[in-house]
Amino acid sequence: MGRIKSIAVLTSGGDSPGMNAAIRGVTRSALYYGIEVTGIRRGYQGMIEKDFVRLEAGSVSNILARGGTILKTARSKEFMEPEGRRRAYGNLKESGIDAVVVIGGDGSLTGARIFCDEYFDIPFIGIPGTIDNDIYGTDYSIGYDTALNTVVEAVDKIRDTADSHNRLFFIEVMGRDAGFLALESGIACGAEAVMIPEVKHQVKNLKSYLEKEFKRKKSSNIIIVAEGDEEGGAFDIADKVKADFENFNIRVSILGYIQRGGTPSALDRVNGSALGYAAVEALMDDQKSVMVGFRNDEIELIPFRKVIRLKKKIDPNEMKMVEILSA
Ligand code: ATP
Repeated sequence: MGRIKSIAVLTSGGDSPGMNAAIRGVTRSALYYGIEVTGIRRGYQGMIEKDFVRLEAGSVSNILARGGTILKTARSKEFMEPEGRRRAYGNLKESGIDAVVVIGGDGSLTGARIFCDEYFDIPFIGIPGTIDNDIYGTDYSIGYDTALNTVVEAVDKIRDTADSHNRLFFIEVMGRDAGFLALESGIACGAEAVMIPEVKHQVKNLKSYLEKEFKRKKSSNIIIVAEGDEEGGAFDIADKVKADFENFNIRVSILGYIQRGGTPSALDRVNGSALGYAAVEALMDDQKSVMVGFRNDEIELIPFRKVIRLKKKIDPNEMKMVEILSA
């Protein structure tokens, strides 16, 4: 305690709504304890290029309602090499930065861990920020709630058309490696089926489901597909289904980048603020190489090594629920 006089904060990987609340939480909490704050622009690339900006209380005024990240974000290949990290370390030392808070997804936290294993004297604290909500050790990641609500609103609109025209819609949502967004939007919208990378051979199951639907003459069907499904994206799956169900009126909709942006939900603002505050408290308690996350509505510290090594699992009950409730 008292050792840290100057910290830096950065956002890395994909942007997500609520990152600004976390930046504000970190900045205002640190200033409260008399700690100087530096914003690093463009994630790890900005650390390597010394793209630093001093943050005062006023620098983070009126940002809670803004999507994206005021610090900008980037993916940095150079940081994946020892030479890039050596330059980044040199810049942090030169600027007198004692600790770093990283807001990002599992890639960003992996980078933080590797950096901390090489350079022991600058502690890093992670904050989970990704719309995928796929980070082990936390029930919640910043941006997921807003993205989920965006998807739900879009799917509800598409449902109107699907109903009016008796159509079968395949709607593709983000989630290259994880199906949380697809699964929970499916539950929220009453999707007839959900296809996610964690569950195999789903096209076969889907076809037998559709056969029953065909007999029942159900008026519309919504199938949510996570973009990373092993059987391909929504277009690929629609093609496979079309081959067997020529009479079906099939359409595909890719939601794309609208899922990333937008005004953060109240939950993303509250939790982003809480995690920003918790990250500074953790540094004050001499913590390092940990992520601050939520488990059962409590803030917890989870070591980077666990966050990176372990995979967050889909709840199989939720998949079963989609099946039962769509009957
Ligand atoms: P999202 O979930 O939105 O994709 P992410 O944080 O997982 O976010 P990545 O592109 O995987 O996004 O990672 C962000 C950055 O973290 C990378 O561009 C790179 O600079 C750094 N990073 C990722 N993996 C490593 C690694 N193995 N070693 C060093 N740095 C890494």
